Amino acid sequence: MKVFKFGGASVKDAEGIKNVGRVLESQGFENCMLVVSAMGKTTNALEKVVELYFGKEDFQHEITNVKQNHFDIADGLFSEKHPVFEEIKLIFDEISSFLSRNKSPNYDFVYDQVVSCGEIISSKILSAYLNQINFLNQWMDARDFLKTDDSYRDGNVNWEKTEKYISNFQRNICYVTQGFIGSDENNFTVTLGREGSDYSAAVFAYCLNAEAMTIWKDVPGVMTADPRKFKDVSLLSNISYEEAIEMAYYGASVIHPKTLQPLQQKNIPFFVKSFLEPEKNGTKVGMTDQNEYTESYILKENQVLIRIATRDFSFIAEDHLSLIFLLLAKYKIKISLMQNSAISLALCVEDKFNNIELLKAELNKQFNIEFVKGVSLFTVRNADLSDLNKFYQDKKILLEQISKQTIQMVTH
Ligand code: ASP
Ligand code: MG
Repeated sequence: MKVFKFGGASVKDAEGIKNVGRVLESQGFENCMLVVSAMGKTTNALEKVVELYFGKEDFQHEITNVKQNHFDIADGLFSEKHPVFEEIKLIFDEISSFLSRNKSPNYDFVYDQVVSCGEIISSKILSAYLNQINFLNQWMDARDFLKTDDSYRDGNVNWEKTEKYISNFQRNICYVTQGFIGSDENNFTVTLGREGSDYSAAVFAYCLNAEAMTIWKDVPGVMTADPRKFKDVSLLSNISYEEAIEMAYYGASVIHPKTLQPLQQKNIPFFVKSFLEPEKNGTKVGMTDQNEYTESYILKENQVLIRIATRDFSFIAEDHLSLIFLLLAKYKIKISLMQNSAISLALCVEDKFNNIELLKAELNKQFNIEFVKGVSLFTVRNADLSDLNKFYQDKKILLEQISKQTIQMVTH
């Protein structure tokens, strides 16, 4: 079986959905599982609904906007009487009725119940459209088989259960299902974190022992740098799992960091291709002895630089470090880079859940601290170290680290 993942940009409008049909035509449609994200900016819009709901503001208006947007897309694909319109309406009615009944003060729980609907709707529309053009497929609710714990907005996959459920899949059917979502023991919806659809696809590929997984993007593949941020970028056509994992870790946004590990474990080849030019090879990530060691650039923005020093000039020792790491884990703040000296520790971190002020308050009780928000982490992989100067031009560098062929700098 093959797993294809279509991201939000590939299904952002009726033309995008039609294009999925074209991609499948060029690739063959037998034995595949399609994993789809919410359309375009739907996830952001549904996040807004939750924000308004908790802020006791008018969220219904925002729901109506999102609903209308999906109706408009469906208008471009189906005739007026198609049952999909009723299905879309029902899903939005359910969001409203869930919010009016809800008593839970747990933001993350409510978020998952609401925001997950983006994927449910996009997958319904895609499945119905493909059936209409005779790409026969079965719609599946990912929450029936991708099982997680109850860490809302950051679900951890229960591999044992998920593998058991997925083993019942039939091999000769094409399935259309959702990325990003699963469910906990009580069957409440749990999301896997923003941009988590690639990871879902990798979980399915792993459990299905898929022959390959492809994610369809609006870029030609994995590039030497993000073409939206850098000029003169080129395509990496062949890279190893290790290289791809490192690039994702450093912040290459085409690859979701958690995606590679399940694929690597079963040696499932992973392709990143353009949905605009599906016949092109794109990037292959896999077991390869021809990893391309091309200089590549990765910019991770919206980071926070933290400097922590002891108050009494004592060394930053294991007990301090373990306290600091415990706090970082508690607030789900991820380290992108760290460096220590005798009496201080510098961390470049990413604060996905807006907890930085809480961390600051706790650290402040024990240490001298300095926080610089809004910094970027610039990483050069496979760098040509003989010409270091070119990397330093016009940059205000707050921290730097060079290891092997990798240069990293925190800049302001
Ligand atoms: N729709 C979700 C998001 O926008 C998941 C994904 O696209 O991967 O984050
Ligand atoms: Mg996406």
